[in-house]
Amino acid sequence: MKHILLIATGGTIACRESGRGLAPSLTGEELLEFLPEIRKICRVFVDNPFSVDSTDITTSQRRELAMMIWENYDRYDGFVIAHGTDSLAYTAALLYHMLRNFNKPVIITGAQRPMGEPGSDAERNMLDSFRVACVGWTGVAAVLHGQVIRGNHVVKVHSKAMNAFRSINAPLAGTIRDDGKVLLNIPPRLGGEPEFVDIVDSSFVVLKLVPDLDPSIIEFLRRYDKVILEGYGAGGIPIRLEKVVQKLILSGTKVYITTQCLEGEVDLHKYAVGRRAEAMGAVSLGHRTVEDAIASIQCGEI
Ligand code: ASP
Repeated sequence: MKHILLIATGGTIACRESGRGLAPSLTGEELLEFLPEIRKICRVFVDNPFSVDSTDITTSQRRELAMMIWENYDRYDGFVIAHGTDSLAYTAALLYHMLRNFNKPVIITGAQRPMGEPGSDAERNMLDSFRVACVGWTGVAAVLHGQVIRGNHVVKVHSKAMNAFRSINAPLAGTIRDDGKVLLNIPPRLGGEPEFVDIVDSSFVVLKLVPDLDPSIIEFLRRYDKVILEGYGAGGIPIRLEKVVQKLILSGTKVYITTQCLEGEVDLHKYAVGRRAEAMGAVSLGHRTVEDAIASIQCGEI
């Protein structure tokens, strides 16, 4: 029977009403009490590094999770992280890049409703996560609502619905049937030696381009090494912002362009606005999600 480490970090899945709104209170051990069937799937060990609403999770806590997994590589067959859903996509992307070529399962899950509440998705998501961790999946993935989503493609698209996550710009990595059978769609092995990639860059900012954006905001961004501009459609820089963006690039800040569209990719060759942006030195982020782009910058890949 496989040995899986459950890392409980809080989130709705662990929440109880506090009198001042939902707040995480259940430990990993307490979450498992709701899942007696788990004994048939695997042997679970528990760690509770912190218990917070994922709104409050910092990069250093995300790094702590990556370290915990890396340092326990030999001890367990896989890892399941119970996490708040709101910022789960950022954690999934960062772990995906920090645990390069990881050849054991790292599954991140959460729930839209607290464990034990009638109609909650917590029980199913947890059981499914342990199931996926036991069938030979390797690398970082989110498991929610019967879907397996590779770590660098996870996006939360709904604030309340049970089916709140999508695999953006990539097919689902797998599904879990109602009877618990896991169907993986892609070969699980990534190849290459597992490697811990540490965070090397924290001087970045993301700015969404909106109509009439004050150009002086872009001047202010010179203090950052890297700026991601969330542009429109296939990408480009509005003519009224060209001068300030050009100055920003000449000052040494690297400028990347992503798209506000949820799906599809940046194509700076298609339109004149895109070509002008490229000519001044802006770099396309292609089909990356913003979460993935941030993690790539943090890990020094771009
Ligand atoms: N606010 C919660 C969190 O992200 C929402 C959830 O877990 O679904 O921690």
